[in-house]
Amino acid sequence: MRNNLQFYIDGTWVQPKGATVIDVINPADEAVIGQVALGDASDVDDAVSAARKAFETYSLTSNKERISLFDRIIAAYDKRANDLALAVTDEMGAPQWLSEQLQVTVGVAHFKIARAALETYRFDEPLGTSEVVREPIGVCALITPWNWPLMLMAAKVAPALAAGCTVVLKPSEIAPFSGTILAEILHDAGVPKGVFNLVHGDGRVVGNALTSHPDVDLVSFTGSTAAGIEVARTGALTVKRVHQELGGKSPNIVLRSADLASAVEGGVAQMMLNSGQNCSAPSRMLVHVDQVAEAISYAKAAAETWSVGHPSSNAKMGPVASEAQWNKIQRLIQSGLDEGATLVTGGLGRPDGLDAGFYVRPTIFACVRNDMTIAREEIFGPVLVIIAYSDEDEAVRIANDTTYGLAAYVQGERVAAEAIARRLRAGQVYLNNVNLDLAAPFGGYKQSGNGREWGPMAIAEFLEIKAIIGFR
Ligand code: NAD
Repeated sequence: MRNNLQFYIDGTWVQPKGATVIDVINPADEAVIGQVALGDASDVDDAVSAARKAFETYSLTSNKERISLFDRIIAAYDKRANDLALAVTDEMGAPQWLSEQLQVTVGVAHFKIARAALETYRFDEPLGTSEVVREPIGVCALITPWNWPLMLMAAKVAPALAAGCTVVLKPSEIAPFSGTILAEILHDAGVPKGVFNLVHGDGRVVGNALTSHPDVDLVSFTGSTAAGIEVARTGALTVKRVHQELGGKSPNIVLRSADLASAVEGGVAQMMLNSGQNCSAPSRMLVHVDQVAEAISYAKAAAETWSVGHPSSNAKMGPVASEAQWNKIQRLIQSGLDEGATLVTGGLGRPDGLDAGFYVRPTIFACVRNDMTIAREEIFGPVLVIIAYSDEDEAVRIANDTTYGLAAYVQGERVAAEAIARRLRAGQVYLNNVNLDLAAPFGGYKQSGNGREWGPMAIAEFLEIKAIIGFR
């Protein structure tokens, strides 16, 4: 059993004041694998006041001191890589290979990138007669979801600490294990007390206490658009900086010039990775009407290579993270059937032989119109929809016809693909199925959020700008 019954506040493990404890369910078999204590507003008060006190000194540390701290963090993280991978698999069901090869490695990559940025980062800059001084904004509340639990925590903690801020982290209450290990890592690395604090809890209680706290200067939130709107609304009452990384419904335009087989296969792979629980998943594949029949056959074959099974097996796909998520995906698959989309493969229910655990069948729908529910709502599961377009203008129009704008994908001849990329209203556009670039800024247009994470640009999100005028 993994018990997460203490919080990390002011450099020490403390008993939460909040009295509630909930079970953590293993999505692979629905067994109880641990417990997590849910805090309350008084735990948040303690964590924020520790962070405020630590800010007085940590904010004054030099780039050199922070680089040395990051070196120790990276070394301590590497030592716990196996523990982290097992924790991520247990808490959200990622296959072990995925936890080891991606979930854990992309987590530490954020610390490495922030460390490298500090080598040359200029916090002060002359401008005319003034000096523009970039100062750490203060105490930051970091609120994260469960789908890439470790990576999304690291994507906030690393730039915040690089900027000289102090933080209170609240991971998802359904995937709390990797957050606890991250706190142990930061402790072992010698992060000064109060600089990093960890509380667990319900979003509407502990999350809300953080976003409404008068002594929190910035909230960096990753999660659903609905919760993100609540966070922004609450944060506005104390005029906080609110950084939102929210949902997506990303288009993947396959141009006629693309190699259709590899474009479709790559698009299916990016969709199915992590059981489709990726905010930037290419969930709407747009294919020229003349190529749809061929694309469907490639997509079906590709989806059927996505074996589903227990995370400790060799399966490419594990379960989704929770029963609530499984139910939501079933509801949306049902809506696709009800609204007249053609089911190509997969569909309702669990894959054969997987009776316990939150397993979903890799699913492809074709003959989908962009006004259908499955083309508009974020499913956050292994469900791809194929939509036909008749010319490139129509492809761009359909691609942009969404309330979201997190990511987009274009497959085809490079110059044409790049021209299309410039017309898409999305924060990241991936050409020809390239993989992640963790150094590139990540964030959304429209209701996918605001602000940018990842890479050296993420540090700026945690800084205030002061102009000292008459400096020279
Ligand atoms: P969620 O919004 O339910 O919860 C996310 C976090 O916010 C959790 O820690 C939760 O406790 C907390 N929370 C919930 N309501 C809150 C409130 N009112 N005030 C403060 N905190 C609150 O999301 P989820 O189900 O954990 O994650 C899935 C969602 O996250 C998807 O919509 C996905 O697209 C999105 N996501 C976005 C990104 C991105 O970078 N844009 C990355 C991953 C996931």
